[in-house]
Amino acid sequence: MAEPSRFHGQRPPRPQKKFFHRRKFCRFCTDSTIKSDYKNPMTLRDFVTERGKIMPRRITGNCAIHQRELTLAIKRARTIALLPFVVSEG
Ligand SMILES: [Zn+2]
Repeated sequence: MAEPSRFHGQRPPRPQKKFFHRRKFCRFCTDSTIKSDYKNPMTLRDFVTERGKIMPRRITGNCAIHQRELTLAIKRARTIALLPFVVSEG
């Protein structure tokens, strides 16, 4: 089946960004009491979606250092089954 090249030579109109931009600060920088610790899945859960995916930095507002630590902690927590890899629907 040949796809008609409707957008030949020009891009389709881009949809507006759904995420409204809110200035957020890194929660780990502002609050020193919370740590990205793989033994603390309750904190990590705030940074994964309900499907079990790690939220990107542009949503969480974390700084690069802490996002990296957090990603590591989530991956560790997954391997020892404190967090799910995928949350199946239904
Ligand atoms: Zn930070």
